Amino acid sequence: MTRIIAVANQKGGVGKTTTTVNLAAALAALNERVLMIDLDPQGNATMGSGVDKNDLQASSYHWLMAELAFAEVSQASPASYQVMPSNLDLTAAEVALLQHNDREFVMRDLLKGDASAFDYVLIDCPPSLNILTVNALVAATSVLIPMQCEYYALEGLSALLDTVDGIREKANPILHIEGLLRTMYDPRNGLTRDVSRQLIHYFGDQVFRTVVPRNVRLAEAPSHGLPILLYDRGSRGSLAYQALAAEVRKRNAKRTSDRKQ
Ligand code: ATP
Ligand code: MG
Repeated sequence: MTRIIAVANQKGGVGKTTTTVNLAAALAALNERVLMIDLDPQGNATMGSGVDKNDLQASSYHWLMAELAFAEVSQASPASYQVMPSNLDLTAAEVALLQHNDREFVMRDLLKGDASAFDYVLIDCPPSLNILTVNALVAATSVLIPMQCEYYALEGLSALLDTVDGIREKANPILHIEGLLRTMYDPRNGLTRDVSRQLIHYFGDQVFRTVVPRNVRLAEAPSHGLPILLYDRGSRGSLAYQALAAEVRKRNAKRTSDRKQ
């Protein structure tokens, strides 16, 4: 079964793209077949995967608009996963989708065929609950929510969880929370520790055990077009994303065995 994980949080700069790229690379290193879909017109996940967004013959725009087939648009990343790249063209798709009758289901319908060759599909969502993010949540089997442990983090979280609940009721009954991921974590900061405690109090096992520390190597890697695993394999950031990949795999293996019982 293909796991389709939307990496979403409408709050900007919380580590969505960093998480998508580095989890994709870490899962690929565990021999999983991974597709990374960049669903943000900023194209940061594309660049961070070693694909130049300014030099694309075709992008996710053409795929979503059914102008080109998946194989004509997607590319192999140097980090052993497949990339569905994006650039500013994607903003035009956002407008076009709004005219579409089945606007929320476009990506789900495309992925029914195109995702079957992969074990994991990771979707980097834009910092907004717009139609692109809704398409990702309708297509996904789960949502992974990166968040910084700061004062307003919990407030934004309830809007996102309400959206997830709404989509589960109306369009995608299997959608579940893959996990809440604490990013840019600084244990010396008292507020970080407080918010982290609250998260665990309210969400329990839905909070990943893995914590991603603030690590400058993670911020440097994208400027080299490399996931952290290839840029600095032994760095703390790299070890965190390797641990996250193992945790995601373990959770999914457990879900599969729970379903069989
Ligand atoms: P946007 O909402 O704009 O799409 P985002 O949620 O995708 O942002 P990122 O782009 O992944 O967030 O991260 C925001 C910035 O923080 C980037 O410059 C990134 O390199 C840096 N960053 C992310 N995670 C870490 C980390 N663990 N340690 C240090 N820097 C980080
Ligand atoms: Mg991003």
